[in-house]
Amino acid sequence: MDAPVVAAPSPFRPAAPPEGRRPGGILGIVALGLALVIFLVDAFTPLEGAVAVLYVVVVLIAARAFQRNGVILTASGCLILTAVAYFLSHRLFDSDSALLRALVSLAAIAISALLVLRNQSAARILAEQAELLELTHDPIFVRTPTDTVTFWNRAAEDLYGWRRDEVRGRNVHVLLRTAFPDGEAAIRDALMRNGRWEGELVQTVRSGARVVVESRWSLQRNADGQPLAVLETNTDITERKRAHAALAESERRYRTIFDTARVAILQQDWRQVKAVIDAVPRDSGMSLGTYLDDHPEVVRDLRRSVTIVDANAELRRLIGADTGAAAPQSLDAFLFEDEPTFVESLLALARGETFFEGETVIRSLSGERVPILFGITFPSHADGFECVLVFALDITERKQAQEALLALQSELAHTARVTTLGELTASIAHEVNQPLAAIVTNGEAALRWLKRSPPDLGEVSAAVTRVVASGTRAGEIVSRIRTFLAKAPPPRDWLDLREMIGEAVLLVEREMVRHDVRLVRDVAADVTPVHGDRVQLQQVLINLMVNAIQAMATVIGRPRLLIIRVAPDGTEHVRVTVADSGRGIAAEAVERIFQPFFTTKADGMGMGLAICRSIVEAHGGRLWIGGHHDRDDGPGAAFHFTIPMTAERGS
Ligand code: ADP
Repeated sequence: MDAPVVAAPSPFRPAAPPEGRRPGGILGIVALGLALVIFLVDAFTPLEGAVAVLYVVVVLIAARAFQRNGVILTASGCLILTAVAYFLSHRLFDSDSALLRALVSLAAIAISALLVLRNQSAARILAEQAELLELTHDPIFVRTPTDTVTFWNRAAEDLYGWRRDEVRGRNVHVLLRTAFPDGEAAIRDALMRNGRWEGELVQTVRSGARVVVESRWSLQRNADGQPLAVLETNTDITERKRAHAALAESERRYRTIFDTARVAILQQDWRQVKAVIDAVPRDSGMSLGTYLDDHPEVVRDLRRSVTIVDANAELRRLIGADTGAAAPQSLDAFLFEDEPTFVESLLALARGETFFEGETVIRSLSGERVPILFGITFPSHADGFECVLVFALDITERKQAQEALLALQSELAHTARVTTLGELTASIAHEVNQPLAAIVTNGEAALRWLKRSPPDLGEVSAAVTRVVASGTRAGEIVSRIRTFLAKAPPPRDWLDLREMIGEAVLLVEREMVRHDVRLVRDVAADVTPVHGDRVQLQQVLINLMVNAIQAMATVIGRPRLLIIRVAPDGTEHVRVTVADSGRGIAAEAVERIFQPFFTTKADGMGMGLAICRSIVEAHGGRLWIGGHHDRDDGPGAAFHFTIPMTAERGS
């Protein structure tokens, strides 16, 4: 083993031998025996040497055997024995040289006793200090500049798994297979230069597990400045590293979600808002809502005080910001003047709610209006307002679709009125016919009463009154028709049937899903656009599709198929077929099915097919039933209609 470099009483060389194995007894006897021999030789033999000096050996043996008091006792005994031996063998001052030898011996015994006592006390202090190193939780070891272990504390035993006697004299970094992430040479250089180094090391414990330690090295030099030893203190940070890595991983996952979410996410700082809301006096009897209404400048300031800490890519897309461009710093930049939900969110915050959601319109960088659905998550405790998360969903498309649907519905409603008119013409004509006939009859009667001699003016007056009443009624009927036709005549466009079918399918999609109906679409490639009223033709398609879906409601045991086929019909027409695998149509019903008010449904009107036929015929086409549709999935029914490919409208 190399020279001990730290405290002499290292755990390898305990200052005091362990309890139970103390050699004090034997050594004490040896010391006493030796003292006795020296005394006998000194007192009773004619030897003229400084025999008493040998008592120093007794003191040294006593130093090994006894504590402080034992040593003092032994040394005092030796001094007394020296004096006694002198007086037994010499008379006082009879020989100067004998006296001198006795005095030298006494001095030697006293000095060696003092030195031994001092050494024992220093050793005790060092032992106590070494004990402190034992008590620390961090592994500590001392090694020579060439890495040989000279001290190894209990915590090092615990962490690395080797006992101190197993590592004694071994190269510690070879044993621990230390990996130096910063480079071994650089670390050793730094240690020599600065006398200390600290950093992370990866080491291998006895079981083979790898541990990461935070290592602190201190270099001890001798009086000449030569490196003597290195004190290495290592703190096991494996768990901390693992926790840190897990945290970093979770951060990374969160970041990925944040960056790639199709929902806009913003991190906002609401601290100032929170402080102001908390500071608004509540005991004045005025509600916060009223206060904010009365102080628009406060609301404006609060909007400005909400800063945007972070925003994801989807938000940048939403506001039309380039990837490189900086997003606005304050919430105020996104909100239009008098935006109402901000104040609502303040009230929700004041009520202590932790979530607020709403629908609003924000301003893009170019000033455009972007409708959004949003949610704000407020922290449940006072701190944390520097990180208020806001989620926003772009609902532009949804809004547009909603508006388109509403427009379509109102158009359909209007068309329904107009086409129903066709079916009602007969009854209206009948109604107008009746007052007209009454006018004619009463007019003729009035003439007859006038031609009488003398004319019966009373009868004439009564007949003319009835004429006026009938005329008024006819006028009322006509004005009813006018109201009915209030909207301008339907427009005629070039229509892509494929597109039209798509739109119609969209409108009955829910019904299809509800009835578990599968749609088969088969549009021939060589179908050209037709000329007609998009909404009316769509109504035909929808009527036929809804009828087909309803006809399959009771079908069990075979697929419910709704087939829409579009193909040229001859050279002049396009034929659209709407077929189903439903219950089919009874032969006797086929004749009457297009008549108004024919229905087999409890809640049916029986007007659908009649209206469809009027529309198709108004477009110059034909609508008819083709027995079974030409697939053999079930009996079912097939309705066909044609539309001329030419622009001309039929009668
Ligand atoms: P409604 O649907 O109000 O009864 P329609 O004029 O649309 O009025 O239909 C008239 C009748 O024709 C229906 O009651 C039904 O009996 C029959 N019908 C229509 N389409 C089909 C079909 N695809 N399969 C079987 N029967 C049908």
